[in-house]
Amino acid sequence: MEKASFSSTQGKPIRCKAAILRKAGEPLVIEEIQVDPPRAYEVRIKILCTSLCHTDLTFSKLDSGPLARFPRILGHEAVGVVESIGENVDGFKQGDVVLPVFHPHCEECKDCKSPKSNWCKSFTNDFLSNTRRYGMSSRFKDSSGEDIHHFLFVSSFTEYTVVDIAHLVKISSEIPVHKAALLGCCVSTGVGAVWKVADVEEGSTVAIFGLGAVGLAVAEGARLRGAAKVIGVDLNPDKFEIGKQFGITDFVNPALCGEKKTSQVINDMTEGGVDYSFECIGLASLMEEAFNSTRPGSGKTVVLGMEQKAMPISLGSYDLLRGRTICGTLFGGMKPKLDIPILVDRYLKKELNLDGLITHEIKFEEINKAFDLLAEGNTIRCILWMDT
Ligand code: NAD
Ligand code: ZN
Repeated sequence: MEKASFSSTQGKPIRCKAAILRKAGEPLVIEEIQVDPPRAYEVRIKILCTSLCHTDLTFSKLDSGPLARFPRILGHEAVGVVESIGENVDGFKQGDVVLPVFHPHCEECKDCKSPKSNWCKSFTNDFLSNTRRYGMSSRFKDSSGEDIHHFLFVSSFTEYTVVDIAHLVKISSEIPVHKAALLGCCVSTGVGAVWKVADVEEGSTVAIFGLGAVGLAVAEGARLRGAAKVIGVDLNPDKFEIGKQFGITDFVNPALCGEKKTSQVINDMTEGGVDYSFECIGLASLMEEAFNSTRPGSGKTVVLGMEQKAMPISLGSYDLLRGRTICGTLFGGMKPKLDIPILVDRYLKKELNLDGLITHEIKFEEINKAFDLLAEGNTIRCILWMDT
């Protein structure tokens, strides 16, 4: 049925509903927009559901600099179904269930072929364009014919979007779509940081700064690797209960540490520091604290949080000499087309636990409620369902 109805829209613009950010910090506005057909190497997809990540919240408030752009369609954790394909598109057809991903994977460049990195040389250095191969050209227009900006090459807060094939992964239709949406950002980022970037071993000690969906996915990755002690750090005590379900064994609330720094408390708890620490908040001061929580000689820190004001971090040069390392990662070092199907498989085999991450499910039209829930720390992930 879906295929029959899709053939009537193929090659033509589609009018549909989208949530538009017109100005930084303002609520999104549901408007009717026009979505152009896909060009070469692009696919137009009908979004089935989408969720909200802290990165959407950060960008919704960003009011200056080259990354701030309006009007814009945010959203980058979603699952959709292929409505139509452009020229030169292999491997996708109408009706396929697909996961758009903000991180590119051309599969052909030196870095895509290397097991060492997910920094696709062909595409990753361009964060600013609307569409992957066509610069600022947009597929979205508002009712007065003005272009609307894309976001992270996904833009999922709309009933239809256009995504480049370098950002699209075909997934099994067996996984529930709302669970699969989480693989588009938070789960892959967190689990990947543990498996691919830190390469945590059995029996390790781990500290996780920030127990949102990204931090809890780090915990899940550490649990699957057999970490012995996993310390969760968060200001919100509600996160501690759910953290236990993801294998977090100990908790530190920085607000209750008195005179001591969080890193000192963690050093005391682990007789000299954790083997691995992960920053999943996005604050320079906590990146430093995460680094200072690790064990001299071998400790490794992975930064996942996006610094909300792009602030630099400051590390003691002697602390680096003491054999600690620190690095950052986008999408947890995962190569989308290769690694997302592995995560889907492990979910279907009941190895990867995604229960408890989705705390709310609401209608797409109520999207501003989802922003409020995340901003107030009252949700882990809120799924927005499109009308089917
Ligand atoms: P979230 O809002 O769900 O979770 C953040 C958590 O940090 C919350 O539990 C909050 O209580 C806690 N927190 C906030 N300030 C704190 C403080 N000062 N001390 C201790 N805890 C504090 O966010 P999320 O969606 O899990 O995203 C986490 C971060 O990861 C964001 O910065 C986001 O932009 C980033 N991110 C990065 C990537 C990547 O590829 N590197 C991918 C996704 C998200
Ligand atoms: Zn994200």
